[in-house]
Amino acid sequence: MPSTQKDQSSRRLGRRAVVIGASMAGLLAARVLSNHFDQVFLLERDKVHDHPETRKGQPHTRHVHGLLARGFEIMTHYFPGLPEDLVQGGALIGDMGADLRWFVAGGYRLQTHVGMNGVLSSRPFLEWRIRRMLLTRPNITLLDECEVKEPATDSAKQRITGVHVVHRGDGHRAELLETDLVIDASGRGSAAAKWLAALGYAQPEEEAVQVNIGYASRIYRRKPGDLVGANLIMITPTPPQSIRGGFAFPMEDDRWIVGLGGRGGDYPPTDEAGFLEFARSLAAPDIYNLLLQVEPLSEIVPYRFPANLRRRYEKLARFPEGFLVLGDAVCSFNPVYGQGMTSAALQAVELDRLLADRGVKGLASAYFKQIVKIIDIPWQIAVGEDFRFPTTQGKKAPETDLINAYVTQVNRASHHDPVALKAFLEVMNLIKPPSSLMRPRILWRVLRRSRKTLPAPQPQPAAAAS
Ligand SMILES: Cc1cc2nc3c(=O)[nH]c(=O)nc-3n(C[C@H](O)[C@H](O)[C@H](O)COP(=O)(O)OP(=O)(O)OC[C@H]3O[C@@H](n4cnc5c(N)ncnc54)[C@H](O)[C@@H]3O)c2cc1C
Repeated sequence: MPSTQKDQSSRRLGRRAVVIGASMAGLLAARVLSNHFDQVFLLERDKVHDHPETRKGQPHTRHVHGLLARGFEIMTHYFPGLPEDLVQGGALIGDMGADLRWFVAGGYRLQTHVGMNGVLSSRPFLEWRIRRMLLTRPNITLLDECEVKEPATDSAKQRITGVHVVHRGDGHRAELLETDLVIDASGRGSAAAKWLAALGYAQPEEEAVQVNIGYASRIYRRKPGDLVGANLIMITPTPPQSIRGGFAFPMEDDRWIVGLGGRGGDYPPTDEAGFLEFARSLAAPDIYNLLLQVEPLSEIVPYRFPANLRRRYEKLARFPEGFLVLGDAVCSFNPVYGQGMTSAALQAVELDRLLADRGVKGLASAYFKQIVKIIDIPWQIAVGEDFRFPTTQGKKAPETDLINAYVTQVNRASHHDPVALKAFLEVMNLIKPPSSLMRPRILWRVLRRSRKTLPAPQPQPAAAAS
């Protein structure tokens, strides 16, 4: 990661950069651009308030969002003091081993300290605290209710020279914002491919792996003693025996968020009795038992996620200067693996490094080539896991079933073995590559352990229903 020392002394590469979209990828992109440009404009279509909120442009933020240890590390690098700020605001920092009760592959993973921290808060809270810290930087300006309509170019259409915007809060006033670099962080619905086509460029190839996930989430009051021996619960389905999963994460202001999920039309209902029944049908009873004790504070909110989707910008032969795409706009992953924010953070680190090393000229080709390496790993993890489910459709790498069979053994070993557990969590948290699970030390432990009989699941004792 570029050092903070270097951040402060980086040479300036241009007068102005703009970022389209002020969700998590946009905030991180703006933060790294502030190291290199005199002025950074962060343009957001929605009205943005100085409190935690789910905006129209990011309805997914109403659902469970866990921040992986690698993403948290990067955010803390760019926003020193973030962990303290989050905790002071009521979030929890959890050890991904000790604090997590995780049922997978027919048993519970061992709960032991692994030294990898994740953030336990609502997504709107995390985003708000980061946005507040970002906006203390003197060269960053957030323009909300500002919709980007299309890019502006030079006469040869080889360089993006600005963006045409409409100020929605100001009578839809149109304006051209001139700039040296535009980063599109407008999410999965990004119009970048369409803009490229309109300028005479080819559109990126899209790779999709259909998963048809249905989520439903609800917020509850959290009291001490609701959950004994852990701070959060994850129940991962093991197809074909189970295809339903669930999460219960603590959030700021003494609340829980409980998210249930199913695939291929088997979706959690949004009525009280149906939601509870779906929780009861999960492979382990912990979330159901929790729901019997806690007081609901919100409606049950649904979300549908059709497919892992990646846009292969790196394969384009021509790309305009002064323009890049980052975050979900390049790749959006099945959310159950919690990778989206960390992938965006890793892309922002790469952008920072490239700007420091080589400046803006010819940046796109180097950037897209580098972020392929970043995206390949979470993509391989997400899509590989998704192909355990017969309803998943798309391009399946030939080695997938073999890898999944081995990962099942790793999961089983993690029920007993702290070394296997840590090795697995390092991969899931995007700290080490999946190949690290094939180190002889891990391989040996996994294969040795996998021959042992699995213990029966040991759920939390059922709470008395009131
Ligand atoms: C149900 C669900 C659960 C998830 N859970 C997790 C999780 O547990 N952990 C995790 O790391 N990730 C999770 N993700 C993924 C995560 O939400 C995203 O990866 C992350 O928000 C980064 O997205 P983004 O900033 O690229 O795009 P988005 O969050 O989609 O934001 C795009 C922004 O651009 C704005 N915008 C769009 N068009 C324009 C325009 N023309 N002009 C101006 N502004 C515009 C929008 O209003 C919006 O604010 C989840 C996703 C879903 C769907």
